[in-house]
Amino acid sequence: MKPASKAIRIQTEQTGQKEHSTPLYLTSSFTFDSAEEMRAAFADESDDNIYSRFSNPNSQEFIDKMCALEGTEDGYATASGMSAVFASFMAFLKSGDHLLSASSIFGSTHTVISKFLPKWGISYSYADINKPETFEQLIRPETKMIFVETPSNPGLDIIDLEWLGKLSKKHGIILNVDNCFATPALQTPAQYGADLITHSATKFIDGQGRVLGGIILGRKELIKEVYTFCRSTGPALSPFNAWILSKSLETLSLRMEKHSSNALELAKRLEKHAELDWLRYPMLPSHPQYAIAKKQMKQGGGLFTFQIKGGIERGRRFLDALKMASLTANLGDTRTIATHPASTTHAKLTEEERMASGITPGLIRISAGLEDIDDIASDIEQAIAQSR
Ligand SMILES: *Cc1c(COP(=O)(O)O)cnc(C)c1O
Repeated sequence: MKPASKAIRIQTEQTGQKEHSTPLYLTSSFTFDSAEEMRAAFADESDDNIYSRFSNPNSQEFIDKMCALEGTEDGYATASGMSAVFASFMAFLKSGDHLLSASSIFGSTHTVISKFLPKWGISYSYADINKPETFEQLIRPETKMIFVETPSNPGLDIIDLEWLGKLSKKHGIILNVDNCFATPALQTPAQYGADLITHSATKFIDGQGRVLGGIILGRKELIKEVYTFCRSTGPALSPFNAWILSKSLETLSLRMEKHSSNALELAKRLEKHAELDWLRYPMLPSHPQYAIAKKQMKQGGGLFTFQIKGGIERGRRFLDALKMASLTANLGDTRTIATHPASTTHAKLTEEERMASGITPGLIRISAGLEDIDDIASDIEQAIAQSR
């Protein structure tokens, strides 16, 4: 079966009831028929579930589907995207190690890297995504991991994964890619040599703004390290959220096609708007890394950004003038969402750090939903006009 079919057809073992939809295994622990069976499970001699902090059939179904989609061997599902990012660092980095990332990353990830990792003696550097040569220049003997987002949140910067896969292999460094914006429906980093793939499943994977979740995927030997860290420290995904997320994967490729076609159409209609300084979308030839996007992504995804003329106040008036689009922190929902990163997700950064990440004061991020394209377009157009 092709990955999209596997995301629909993979199912955890049936109970005696032969239910068509996987049941919810809402249980904290699992029982054993004998002391010997229990001993064997704890000794890792069997695959029996022990405790839902370690594993659960609903989480396992979600992991199996994600492995089929990303082309990876194994995974561990977490309670949020941030716990996935954090665990993917902590399972591999120790005092004295160096993490290389790029300035264009999600705000909370930036906080973990710059405020917490140094507390444990782990140093970091940020390469300039628009000058790829800075990655190699910043590699040190103690560089243990490269962490990137492509497309990045919210800058929509794109990194050549084939090139970065070769670079990290050459230097023997773990390549960790946050694939949240593209999802495996549009881009599979493992194919280019990514060792770890992290996700916030809260976004397009759920796709309906209901639950938090995350996942770390990769080769068996690496996920074993992740599992050992997570089994002891407890960032496990709840079985209920896993059940929701596994169901969501059945429609992921269909939804990503529509998110992408809606975003592309909106980007085309708005790109030349006189009231916008610029508009950025991976699949527009005006995007600086358009050629790379074309090479490694099936479609451009659901997000685009623009800078509205008139700076920060105009940006706020624009948000206030929207009639249909939601003002909310999430993205990747069926409903169109507008955000203003400078005053929200990236507000904790200094002005200087924001500018280094491409977060200009008037930057607006739109997550194109699945509503009728004409309704989304007219809402954005009237809000641009109203906010003048
Ligand atoms: C939202 C997001 C995260 C964090 O995920 P949560 O599920 O909110 O913890 C990490 N990386 C990217 C790119 C995101 O957009």
